[in-house]
Amino acid sequence: MQIGDENASTSTWDCAGFDCIRSSFMKTHWAAASARFTTTFINSPSGNKCDVCDRLWFLRSLKPTNEKHLPLLNNAFPEEPEADFKLCGTCKKSLDSGKLSTLSRSNGFVYPPKQHGLPALDPISALLVSPRLPFMQIRRLRYDGSYGIIGRVPLCTR
Ligand SMILES: [Zn+2]
Repeated sequence: MQIGDENASTSTWDCAGFDCIRSSFMKTHWAAASARFTTTFINSPSGNKCDVCDRLWFLRSLKPTNEKHLPLLNNAFPEEPEADFKLCGTCKKSLDSGKLSTLSRSNGFVYPPKQHGLPALDPISALLVSPRLPFMQIRRLRYDGSYGIIGRVPLCTR
């Protein structure tokens, strides 16, 4: 096993049993991927909700409403200021096509109020109810019976 000096700071499990000298090309891509991960997940505030479906999103995933959406939103949510709504991609796409999202709060998809008297979350419970959810699926790749994992890696950041 041969490990380059520049890889001393990386984890050792990915180099076990392999010659693992990263080229400068791979180091550049590794640094770019690490920077993108930091920007996308660590520095991006999460826990923001779509005002139509109440699902949680990263702030950069929510879009503002436009004039075309206001009449439909005003019918569905008459007591709320629709101009300040932030929409997820699914709800925005539905509103762009002139319909309200099926998962809209006006269709009854509302979270119940938090009950009083619940104990504070310990670190493991907080991790289990973390807003970052796995999106991995096992799908059949071909007709010959091959399966693969499709989707993003689950993230646990607490
Ligand atoms: Zn939504």
